Amino acid sequence: MCIFCEIIKGNIPSKKVYEDDEILAILDISQTTKGHTLVMPKNHYENFLEMPENEFEHLMGKVQEIAKQVTKNLEANGCNILINTNAVAGQSVMHTHVHIIPRYDENDTITLSFKENEFDLDQILEQIKGRN
Ligand code: AMP
Ligand code: ZN
Repeated sequence: MCIFCEIIKGNIPSKKVYEDDEILAILDISQTTKGHTLVMPKNHYENFLEMPENEFEHLMGKVQEIAKQVTKNLEANGCNILINTNAVAGQSVMHTHVHIIPRYDENDTITLSFKENEFDLDQILEQIKGRN
């Protein structure tokens, strides 16, 4: 059973922020910050890499609209947009979804830390482009 498919079908209650034929946006039950919202496709895809391009474009267009609405009406100063992809990246519900996390100040109850590494950038580029 996929918990988000059950929410989409209406079998599990949710607080709906937006809905159309292709997507559903709901308040995240954890409310990491006030207004934390999840935007998901109605079709079940385990992660966004599996989504057809047109469905992903629609999803992300709506993410922008909803992020504007949420940040404006909740008077947030910014937001983080996150797609956790696979367990290694923190994905716990295997039905792809985009987190909109409104930000009020730098001490909000969310920790994102970008640490530095000394990798060889040229070697990485070659690998990404499939040249080795
Ligand atoms: P992720 O770790 O990226 O897979 O995020 C899953 C998110 O789903 C978490 O932030 C949970 O708080 C949220 N979540 C789990 N169950 C529910 C639910 N029934 N209603 C709303 N949000 C949920
Ligand atoms: Zn699902």
